[in-house]
Parts: sequence; C-alpha cells; structure tokens
Amino acid sequence: MVNTRILKQRKRIALVAHDNKKKELMEWAEFNKTVLARHELIATGTTGKLLEEALDRPIKQVLSGPLGGDQQIGAMISEGLLDVLIFFWDPMEAQPHDPDVKALLRLAVVWNIPVASDRASADFLMTSPLMHEEYTTTIPDYSQYIKRKV
Ligand code: PGA
Repeated sequence: MVNTRILKQRKRIALVAHDNKKKELMEWAEFNKTVLARHELIATGTTGKLLEEALDRPIKQVLSGPLGGDQQIGAMISEGLLDVLIFFWDPMEAQPHDPDVKALLRLAVVWNIPVASDRASADFLMTSPLMHEEYTTTIPDYSQYIKRKV
C-alpha cells in the first residue's frame, strides 16, 4: 500500500536558522522574496522575527528553537501541516537543543518532505518547477510498524 500526501501549489514552508546562520538565511530570503511571496511561511521565534523585517510581511511563528520550536515544527510535519523545510543548521557549533535538531531533520525524512540545509540546496529547491505545482509525495508504509506485535 502506498500512502501519499499532496503538497499544494501554495506550499507551507518552515524556516529555521541557527544564530550563526541567520544572516545567511535573511540574505537568501531577501533574494528569493518574490518566490517566497507565493507561499505560506512559518518559522521558529527568532528566525521569524528577523524574517518579518527582512521580507516586510507577517510570518507565523512558533517558539524559539531551544525552547521547543524545533519540536513544534517537527510535530507539524508529522501532522501533515508543513510541506517544505528550510533549515540552516550550524555545522560548526554544538547547540543546546541538538537532540531537537536531529529529531526535526529525522521527521522531515520520515514524512518525505523536501529539505534544504544550506543555501545551495535552498536555491535548487526554490527554482524547481515543483515549487509551483501540486506535488504528490509518497510516504513509506508504516502500517506494519504500527501493527507490530509488542
Ligand atoms: P530561533 O530558533 O529561530 O528561535 O533562533 C532556531 C533554532 O535554533 O532552532
């Protein structure tokens, strides 16, 4: 059995950047302002505030990452409420919420949504024709796992 989810034309994009990566994400977002205008944006607390200034539009925000925001974004992915994850995580510095970072990246793969962790990948994602089309993402069949004998 194949499970699917529809990522609509107007994507729900989650944006998260660690402190050392925030400047890069803001530059990227400003550069991609026109494309991003066609989609719904949601971000962790501090990233969201900066994005509001950079893009001059209201951005839906969850808690700051270390206070639970990454987990909120992860939960939304699991519930099918988000379509794309742009997550500029810092490869050079440990974070107080490293387990949450790993969990978020893991859930994006569990639910097979597009993820970009660096600017090049984010550019490729934004210029994909699929960003502007309805896309059916296939979800691995977890039914055997759910029905497993324990
Ligand atoms: P922040 O969280 O946007 O609130 O800084 C980002 C993160 O570290 O996950």
